[in-house]
Amino acid sequence: LRRTSVQDLLRSTELDREVLVKGWVRTRRGNKYVQFIAVNDGSGFNSIQVVANAELFPEEKLKADGVENGAAIAVRGKLVASQGKGQTVEIQAEEITVYGSADPAVYPLQKKGHSLEFLREIAHLRPRTNTFGAVLRIRHAMSFAVHQYFNSHGYFYIHTPIITGSDAEGAGQMFRVTTLSDTKPPLNEAGAVDYSQDFFGKATNLTVSGQLEGEVAAMALGKVYTFGPTFRAENSNTARHLAEFWMIEPEVAFFDLQDNMDLAEDFLKSLVRYALEHCPDDLQFLNDQYDKELLSRLRFVVDNDFQRLTYTEAVEILKGAKQKFEFPVDWGTDLQSEHERYLVEKHFKKPVILTNYPKDIKAFYMKLDEDGRTVRAMDVLFPGIGEIIGGSQREDDLQKLQQRMQEMHVPEEDLWWYLDTRRFGSAPHAGFGLGFERLILFITGMANIRDVIPFPRFPKSAEF
Ligand code: ATP
Ligand code: MG
Ligand code: MG
Ligand code: MG
Repeated sequence: LRRTSVQDLLRSTELDREVLVKGWVRTRRGNKYVQFIAVNDGSGFNSIQVVANAELFPEEKLKADGVENGAAIAVRGKLVASQGKGQTVEIQAEEITVYGSADPAVYPLQKKGHSLEFLREIAHLRPRTNTFGAVLRIRHAMSFAVHQYFNSHGYFYIHTPIITGSDAEGAGQMFRVTTLSDTKPPLNEAGAVDYSQDFFGKATNLTVSGQLEGEVAAMALGKVYTFGPTFRAENSNTARHLAEFWMIEPEVAFFDLQDNMDLAEDFLKSLVRYALEHCPDDLQFLNDQYDKELLSRLRFVVDNDFQRLTYTEAVEILKGAKQKFEFPVDWGTDLQSEHERYLVEKHFKKPVILTNYPKDIKAFYMKLDEDGRTVRAMDVLFPGIGEIIGGSQREDDLQKLQQRMQEMHVPEEDLWWYLDTRRFGSAPHAGFGLGFERLILFITGMANIRDVIPFPRFPKSAEF
């Protein structure tokens, strides 16, 4: 007899046959005549109900065998129609085997449910809860949807380096890579380890973005994207920042800012649509459990155009707002998340794409506007999140790029290879970075970014 997944059984219309399931006990309840055991094998949100009659399985025997919350078991029995609400089938148990029990006296996951803060401290057990099962399945589905979107639109997936020599972008936010080996590390004159020599004679860092390498690939393959781990030494302790997160970065040759905005909007809408189509049970649970407006918010994003306006227009709106902000708004300062969320949640009540930011608050590689004061940047702002995407049309003119690098103290020697893309066959191009965990935050309706990645990395997260 072959094992069947719980989800396949729940969908099955072929009744009164012998089946075998393997999974974990979610709950066991009942009375002295009959016990009901909910078994979940991770294949989907719903568990299958196993009915254990007392003649074969007295409650005392189930207890003695360790058929308790959290135990791993196999059940052989007959698949029959169910009278219970919310399910069409159940298993009439004939044989129950326990692989591993979980002593209810010490098993940390109790029936009563736990706070998300507590579950963060037992990140190794939280995938077993309904909430994290749902989040992790959605995370999987979205990562697949990202590849599917790009693949079906003619993009090539590029693997950019994780250890990099350039630190052009991440001033102050880089993790330094060091070597621990039995050969002697290079020492400086004072006798201390010389970290500037560390990666076999060169200073290296963990990547803060795959963009510059992505641009290199776009200048040959036309339409590319990266999707990889990204590291930033964020010490900000916000609910939106991790020290290790995943970023999706498309980069496209012969694209301008307009094309870039169209891509970002279409991409985000199709990801949300994919989640609605492929994760209905998990989303329904999160909607009911945490956020009653989750599903309607997701549908709204799919069905409505994003609001597009310039940074300058946004500053005017914010200056005229009745709301008092913690940080004052002035042309030339970067917007805080309170400002972004005001625009999205209070003013426009829809996703917003802000463009043409002052050049001094944006990176050196963004294309200068004709006015010489702003650049062709775009940030996509989402309800409950603030910035979900940051992107731009890139400066494709060698001289202008060199001048911007000088102004912003980016050494040319470090980026000679990057400048070659402008020196030889330069072309207009644009791209953006989408924080994968911010996308998952939006789609799951979770409030804290630490709850949408299996093992969050943040200050004081050393345990796992
Ligand atoms: P923020 O203003 O929120 O700090 P950023 O402007 O520094 O973000 P970018 O350099 O524009 O971020 O990176 C592109 C995208 O990566 C952001 O729009 C966001 O979705 C995501 N992102 C950036 N930093 C983090 C982080 N520390 N943790 C998770 N996601 C992040
Ligand atoms: Mg930042
Ligand atoms: Mg930002
Ligand atoms: Mg940004």
